[in-house]
Amino acid sequence: MLSANIFYSGYNILFGILSLFLGIGSVFLIKDHKYFRGLFQFQLGGLLILLLTYLSTHEHVLYKIGLNYNFVSFVLMLIAMMTSLLWINAASELYNNTSANKETLTFYISLGLTSCVYYSFIDYGSGRGYHLSAVFTLVGISLLSLSTVLHFWQNRSAGNFLLILSVFMLCGKLIISTYFFKINWLNLNLFTWLWIYIFAVAVVFMRFNIYQTELQKSWNMIDKLNLQINNMIDLSPFPIIISRLTDNRLVLINDKAGYIFGLTKKELHYHKLNDFFVDENNRRQFFEILEKKHEVEDFDLMVCNLVTASPFWLSVSAKPVEYNNEMTLYMAFQDITLRKERENKIQNQADKDPLTMTWNRRYFEKVVPESIKNCIKKHQNFSLLLLDADKFKNINDTYGHKNGDKVLIQLAELCRHSLREEDIVARFGGEEFVIFLDNTDTKTASVVAERLRTTIENSGVTDDEGNIIRFTVSIGVVSSEKTASLEILLRQVDDAMYLAKHNGRNRIAVYDEDAVKNMNKRHKQNRRNNIHPVFQNEENEEFSLLDSYENKIL
Ligand code: GH3
Ligand code: MG
Ligand code: MG
Repeated sequence: MLSANIFYSGYNILFGILSLFLGIGSVFLIKDHKYFRGLFQFQLGGLLILLLTYLSTHEHVLYKIGLNYNFVSFVLMLIAMMTSLLWINAASELYNNTSANKETLTFYISLGLTSCVYYSFIDYGSGRGYHLSAVFTLVGISLLSLSTVLHFWQNRSAGNFLLILSVFMLCGKLIISTYFFKINWLNLNLFTWLWIYIFAVAVVFMRFNIYQTELQKSWNMIDKLNLQINNMIDLSPFPIIISRLTDNRLVLINDKAGYIFGLTKKELHYHKLNDFFVDENNRRQFFEILEKKHEVEDFDLMVCNLVTASPFWLSVSAKPVEYNNEMTLYMAFQDITLRKERENKIQNQADKDPLTMTWNRRYFEKVVPESIKNCIKKHQNFSLLLLDADKFKNINDTYGHKNGDKVLIQLAELCRHSLREEDIVARFGGEEFVIFLDNTDTKTASVVAERLRTTIENSGVTDDEGNIIRFTVSIGVVSSEKTASLEILLRQVDDAMYLAKHNGRNRIAVYDEDAVKNMNKRHKQNRRNNIHPVFQNEENEEFSLLDSYENKIL
């Protein structure tokens, strides 16, 4: 049996130095480790024990400086409790980050039991006080061990409950020891504390080794998996790209992706995913879907080849995946350029007039209301021009229908080239074109119309026999200054165009309500005299109201 006196001897210095050495040594060893915080707590616990050992064996020093016995006991107990708490916290932190392993658990349990046996049978003498104190210690230490074990199994609440109970037990033991023996009970426990400390260091090293082997194993596994993924991606018949989610940098591409995007695997890391996008709206849509659904399926993406800078369409399916320990975006592509071309062609067929390749009436009526809304929103005016070929029937009659077609094609071409890209030219009827001018008032629209009229007047089409066919147009002009209703404006521009015809053709006419009323009044009179309003200013004009030409297009 060990006597308490032994701890007042020089052995304490030996134990102290050993603890210090182990504590500082292991802190130094683990300072770069991932679970440093948990391990550090272990070691801090160890160092606290060292302090406890020193204080409990040299407490007479404390008495000498005037501290009272109970206060010293209280401080010692506080350090003991803090140490236990630190260990349990560290243990649970370590084990929450790894899976608890059986050997360590067995080690902990056996240590707890050994301590209990030591307290119960070896350390104490006989007598009621000893037994009572031993029972308290036994239960206290058992609860402490059990609490640690429960922390390993991640049952934190039960573990904490037992920890509190064990603290109560140890406090009870302190009170009993103090009451019965008037001795500092912590002296008797020195060996146990030392045991636990050495054990803690052992566990740290053991766990440290286990981490290292586990870590190595996982790295090997990751390498193997990465190799497999790389092979699978390389063999895929589809172009595949993997990019980092954090900064969009490319991480991996297969040869097929390298080919279509014009980059080699070597220069991969210099590029970001954004380098491939062409259309900002399209790019934003893609990332919005990705953010909302956490994956994208068959999204039509417009991208470009980095070398040729030529844009093309791809269908992409994308999903965030973990690759090489990083969060990345996996994207598999399919070339859909042909499909897109076909779609565009079909769309064009539906929206364009096949003869003149201008927009048709259907498209005009679909798109212009939207443009009008935009103009209203921006408080801008817009204008409409209605252009009608003069005496076109004569052209057909003189040069034939085929040459008439040629004139219409030329007319459309001249309209497109004389106007801005955003202006909408649509064939409304046989030889009638309507033009929507965005952000344009009456004055500007008149200038544009007059310029267009002159251009057309000065142009011509050569027929098969080398004759130059000249043609002119009458243009009606109206702007949204009074009304923005498309229906009303179309009626007004038609009236304006008739006004131009009425005034002698090959001219423009801005819509004027009075002038139109005047014209209509005369028209009524002429109707009575059987003269068409358009021809009323002309002598010997052929009177033809009926359009004999059957419109094949609209
Ligand atoms: P106005 O100056 O009053 O407009 O006289 P116009 O002869 O142009 O007027 P009208 O409406 O009487 O004649 C239109 C002609 O345009 C009749 C039709 O044969 C011809 N036309 C309509 N569509 C086509 C087409 O696609 N190709 C050809 N070649 N002619 C067409
Ligand atoms: Mg005409
Ligand atoms: Mg006409």
